[in-house]
Amino acid sequence: MQDYPKNVEHQTTYDFIIAGAGCAGLSLLYALLQSSVLCTKNILVVDKSFQKSNDRTWCYWETEPSSFESVVCKSWDHISVHKDSFSKELSTSPFTYKMIEGLDFYTHIIQFAKQFSNVTWEQALISSIDTEDSIATVHYDGGAAKSNHVFSSILPMDTLYTMSQANSSKPFLWQHFKGLLVQFETNLFNPDVARLMDFNVDQKNGTGFMYVLPLNESKALVEYTLFSKTLSKPQEYDVQLRAYLDKNYPNTSYQILHEEIGAIPMTTHVFDKSKAPIFVIGTLGNAVKSSTGYAFKFIQTQVQQIINCLEQGINIDTEVHHTRHSFYDAVLLYILENQLMQGSEIFKRIFEKNKAATIFKFLSNTSTIWEDIQIMRSLPTRIFLPAAIKVLLRRG
Ligand SMILES: Cc1cc2nc3c(=O)[nH]c(=O)nc-3n(C[C@H](O)[C@H](O)[C@H](O)COP(=O)(O)OP(=O)(O)OC[C@H]3O[C@@H](n4cnc5c(N)ncnc54)[C@H](O)[C@@H]3O)c2cc1C
Repeated sequence: MQDYPKNVEHQTTYDFIIAGAGCAGLSLLYALLQSSVLCTKNILVVDKSFQKSNDRTWCYWETEPSSFESVVCKSWDHISVHKDSFSKELSTSPFTYKMIEGLDFYTHIIQFAKQFSNVTWEQALISSIDTEDSIATVHYDGGAAKSNHVFSSILPMDTLYTMSQANSSKPFLWQHFKGLLVQFETNLFNPDVARLMDFNVDQKNGTGFMYVLPLNESKALVEYTLFSKTLSKPQEYDVQLRAYLDKNYPNTSYQILHEEIGAIPMTTHVFDKSKAPIFVIGTLGNAVKSSTGYAFKFIQTQVQQIINCLEQGINIDTEVHHTRHSFYDAVLLYILENQLMQGSEIFKRIFEKNKAATIFKFLSNTSTIWEDIQIMRSLPTRIFLPAAIKVLLRRG
């Protein structure tokens, strides 16, 4: 860890401790250091490894460039959705669909933060975080540190597995996927159109689709995604990916440049709640939208909320999914989990009857009631209304 300045005086009390330096922890660090009010605070960042790899790509949509524009590697202003004979291309205007590679994001923030001598880096496994009075102590291999503001994004996979198997009234599905960055020998793609969902894959194990994001005319991220109760074996993703490539791009050879594999929880379980002095962020802080698995923009919203509260000296609010849209998420998850309607048919109908902008607003929790009604009108009341009532009764 020679690259990162460590605090030689073994200072154990910090203004802020960031426990977990992934998407949420680093986004928070970046925002703290950009705040003229907060940038001089003593900050400890603890992660089990700062040797970051290109372990994920983040895609999201927005209307205005954000502070991560310099690391956006590709953007699209059109998307397409496919199911059987249905095929539709939609303009995303006024939104742009964007992609950031994980390693670019990590490097950008870590390089920036290394210029600040008030940031201390500790590469260690955190074993626990406990609280006494208004002070939290973060215990990690070889030490401990205290703060009255600990921001944690540590959510062990084991906890998630246990939760996914528990017999609970809360729905739990995995959005699990494997993506291949594929370099084809010939030009095959229109690089302006991101294939958001191609449901022309096997639907027997859950809602499955291919996601094809062309980076140029001959290179694309091709990702097989499944929403289901259990995770697949690695070779099962490969079978689907190979079949899709063979069917859609026959007679062209290709080379696989990179692979990514992941699983995102889709659930209405509340993993943890923020309670001073420990504030939960990222997946642990319920930033993932339960019906889609998208989290990157919600994490940025969460971080901005935290910064605003800290700057104003008011209670920190980490909630990003509020009642109305959370309810819609719960209804959709209920339908998917209980297989009341095929996910592929639900998404097809939504994309068939609405503009991409309306759908993106709906999925960003920023749609108006009128826009919500437009989306709902695309879906069969005989299935969605009883499901909504069931979810409402369970909540009560
Ligand atoms: C492969 C993949 C692709 C995704 N793509 C998208 C996408 O396109 N769009 C989107 O909106 N969302 C996407 N997501 C969902 C979400 O944005 C990411 O999961 C995001 O990284 C969540 O941020 P986080 O900070 O909560 O968790 P992470 O980014 O996983 O960060 C957690 C950090 O905590 C550290 N840590 C964990 N345990 C310990 C411990 N005990 N001690 C010390 N450190 C520890 C880890 O090393 C890690 O750095 C994707 C998720 C995955 C897995």
